Amino acid sequence: MHDFHFHAPSSLKEALDLLSEHSDDSKILAGGTSLTTLLKQSLIAPSHIISLHRIPGLNSIDLTDGHLNIGGLVTQREMELSALVQKHTPILAEAYKRVATVRVRNVATVGGGIAQADPAMDPPSSLLILNASITATSSNGSRTLPIHEVYTDYYETSLEPEEIITALHIPVQPEGTNWTYIKYLPRTEDDYATVSVAAIGKITDGKVADVRVALGAVAPTAIRANALEEALIGMQKSSLTHEKLKEISQTVTAIVDPTDDPRGSAWYKRDMSAVFTRRALEEVLK
Ligand SMILES: Cc1cc2nc3c(=O)[nH]c(=O)nc-3n(C[C@H](O)[C@H](O)[C@H](O)COP(=O)(O)OP(=O)(O)OC[C@H]3O[C@@H](n4cnc5c(N)ncnc54)[C@H](O)[C@@H]3O)c2cc1C
Repeated sequence: MHDFHFHAPSSLKEALDLLSEHSDDSKILAGGTSLTTLLKQSLIAPSHIISLHRIPGLNSIDLTDGHLNIGGLVTQREMELSALVQKHTPILAEAYKRVATVRVRNVATVGGGIAQADPAMDPPSSLLILNASITATSSNGSRTLPIHEVYTDYYETSLEPEEIITALHIPVQPEGTNWTYIKYLPRTEDDYATVSVAAIGKITDGKVADVRVALGAVAPTAIRANALEEALIGMQKSSLTHEKLKEISQTVTAIVDPTDDPRGSAWYKRDMSAVFTRRALEEVLK
């Protein structure tokens, strides 16, 4: 590993000043679960590492005006175990619970996961269907970004190099919605998904009143199945036969864009996208 200057600022302002000073040659360190691998493999070689560990005030979870507000340094294990997250966004508690192992989740942070932007990660699809947003803070101030504008490509985000994700905001899951997070991993329990599907749905007066579906690991970013949602809204529950849901789920094969990798070939992932979308719909529109 190459040499670098290690900074451990004790305030957000100090961290932002350091980032602004070294923005083109620095990296933020949070849990370090992804960053240290990139450093060790010499895939990145920043001259400055700016650790967020000593910064107070970025590790709380609270509920205000129908939104969960989660500090950027909250760990993924805290997301899994938080009573507030379990009660108000249970799909997200489940998605974080499915990340790797307890050892990884104990140190990996919410902000680090979002900034890493690996499309095979577990939380992004749930964040998309919950219409989450983030606060990104730099020495010039803060801005709010809807999550679908954050992920732009494989491991790419719309964050500026001098911005820190200081918070994640999530509207609480609507009352009475069914939800599911399906992570299909044919290899080991702690692996990344081959295909994942997050879905919520609600039937009111015999019709589909709400349905939201997003897929992970099958495109450069997690993707929301907008056309499928539009096709389902308002449909009579009685018309949602296995065959009908199979037909509608097939439409996701047109929006996925998977790659061949050790977790499966592109054609297999495309096929499995439709299969697991149908299974998710059967669960949430039952
Ligand atoms: C063995 C292993 C298995 C894994 N399996 C899974 C899995 O099954 N599912 C899954 O979803 N994920 C998995 N992961 C990925 C894991 O979720 C990420 O490594 C983790 O989310 C990154 O968070 P971190 O806090 O450790 O970030 P770091 O490694 O510290 O940082 C990651 C990136 O984000 C930037 N960054 C960090 N914090 C911020 C911030 N607040 N604002 C702006 N930029 C920031 C860093 O500069 C860096 O570029 C696995 C990781 C490992 C090591």
